Amino acid sequence: MRCNYCRIGRYQPTTVPYYSRFAQRIMVIPHVPAQKCDVCGHVSHDADFILRMQYMLDELTAVTVDPANITPPAAPNQNDDWYTSRRSS
Ligand SMILES: [Zn+2]
Repeated sequence: MRCNYCRIGRYQPTTVPYYSRFAQRIMVIPHVPAQKCDVCGHVSHDADFILRMQYMLDELTAVTVDPANITPPAAPNQNDDWYTSRRSS
């Protein structure tokens, strides 16, 4: 498969570390299967791996919210300066 970046090289199977932001930290997974261009070195991760990783992270970070505890935002105060007409003065 031709490289998506330089359009010259071809992707070769390799393993690379995968970096992702997770819970305000950097998560590193070593030796993730990927494709690396033999000319420019562009790395393309396996789409299935990315999808599975995102699914796992979503499951780990999922916060269950009780709908009864959600309070709607307060109605805007019509007397705030933000709402006064600028044409009046
Ligand atoms: Zn390339």
